[in-house]
Amino acid sequence: MTPLRICSPKWVTRRRLERETFGPELTKVAAGLGQPFMPWQRMVADIGCEIDPDTGGPAYREVVVTVPRQSGKTTLFLSWQIHRCLSPRWRHPQRSVFTAQTGKDARDKWLDEIYPLIESSKLHKLTRQMNRGMGNESISWRTGSLIRLLSTSATAGHSKTLHQAVLDEIWHDVDDRREQGIRPAMVTIGDAQILVCSTAGTDRSLVLNRKVRAGRKAVEADSGRGVAYVEFSAPDNWNPDDLESYFGFMPALCPDPPCRCGVDDGGWRHTVTLAVVESERQGLDAAEFARAYGNIPTSSSDLLFAVDVMARVFSPTAADGDKVERFALEVAEDRSSAAIVAATAGGACELVAHGPGVRWAVERANALTGKHGVSVAIDAKGPAGVLEDLLDDCDALDSNTVVQSCEDMFDAIVEATVRFRAIAEPGDPFYDAMTGATKKPVGDRFVWSRKTSANDVTPLMAASLAWRKPSTLTPFASRGG
Ligand SMILES: [Zn+2]
Repeated sequence: MTPLRICSPKWVTRRRLERETFGPELTKVAAGLGQPFMPWQRMVADIGCEIDPDTGGPAYREVVVTVPRQSGKTTLFLSWQIHRCLSPRWRHPQRSVFTAQTGKDARDKWLDEIYPLIESSKLHKLTRQMNRGMGNESISWRTGSLIRLLSTSATAGHSKTLHQAVLDEIWHDVDDRREQGIRPAMVTIGDAQILVCSTAGTDRSLVLNRKVRAGRKAVEADSGRGVAYVEFSAPDNWNPDDLESYFGFMPALCPDPPCRCGVDDGGWRHTVTLAVVESERQGLDAAEFARAYGNIPTSSSDLLFAVDVMARVFSPTAADGDKVERFALEVAEDRSSAAIVAATAGGACELVAHGPGVRWAVERANALTGKHGVSVAIDAKGPAGVLEDLLDDCDALDSNTVVQSCEDMFDAIVEATVRFRAIAEPGDPFYDAMTGATKKPVGDRFVWSRKTSANDVTPLMAASLAWRKPSTLTPFASRGG
């Protein structure tokens, strides 16, 4: 006898039955593709396509879906895009884009999966042209609407108006480049939708992890607008040896094979069997299996500082009441951001200012050095070097001192002899800087890499320069209390 196997999302935005939804129209598109929606796909479509009675447009500007691998999200989001291109609900021509982390992965997916799927379906006759040319991959429809494959780059899509964008597998993303590339093209489109889909990533998946936090918050807030969020993932304290547990959160896993589950319900089928998942489990290491099929983020092993190491040196009250000994100003290599850090007599670092651009930082640094009567350090050979003449009380450090500062800071973090006014959570600038930091070799020594670090490292570099002579400061560990 088959036990009762019920799959349900761990987090889901409430379906407001009092609202109309065009979700069933997506379901029809999927059927037209020969891929009838499974119940979970229908559920997401119904929620994500709810209509705001005030505007007549989609109630949710952003829909975030995170599900285990092989759950069928390609079909779900492709149907959503095709609907945008075909339905009389929209004023054509509409422009929709599909973005993936690497152009090659996305291109392969289009050539191997998406084009054949459309060509073998009855929707094919509604297309005008399917362009396979490298860099010009697109599907245009008889309505004049268009789905384009867009590579991830900061400027892609800037010039054009966009009505819809799919951001696929954003767990790869460590910065907002992808979204920054498309959002400006959507600002004037009141009924635009951003559709985000991904399996879980690692603690470096800064974009996805932020969206997961925001999505769960949105579910709790239950405002009925903004972000709709759906998450299928393994329960807390999940035991992957418990095969029966898989049926609770893998929405495409058939509880009763061979699958006849949807025979009387549009003919849908579950797309995964327990045998398939089990063989994946044999083939993947435990952490990767938990990530891909449990949809649980893993810790990445290539962090320069383990999260518990960071937690030891972070405190929201560090630097409280301390006298400032020195400031440092650091500028990102592409000048996209600047940070000013204060090092205190008590051996703590505080991020005083941090933001995009450079000009403001000069003004702010001059105000601070004037007020506190101390100097501001910069890396004379770094991106902030050009500011030397603009700073009233500047301490321009030579390369050797900068190397020494980075190494001292590395040791101080590992030995917990420095404190940061910070919290060990993504979104905190020190946390993000240390999570993304990499080393750049300088001979046998190193500095923080401005080029290859995954995140904005200006707070960490500024802290290192401000805190550059531990011997003249009282190390935190040796303080009386
Ligand atoms: Zn089934």
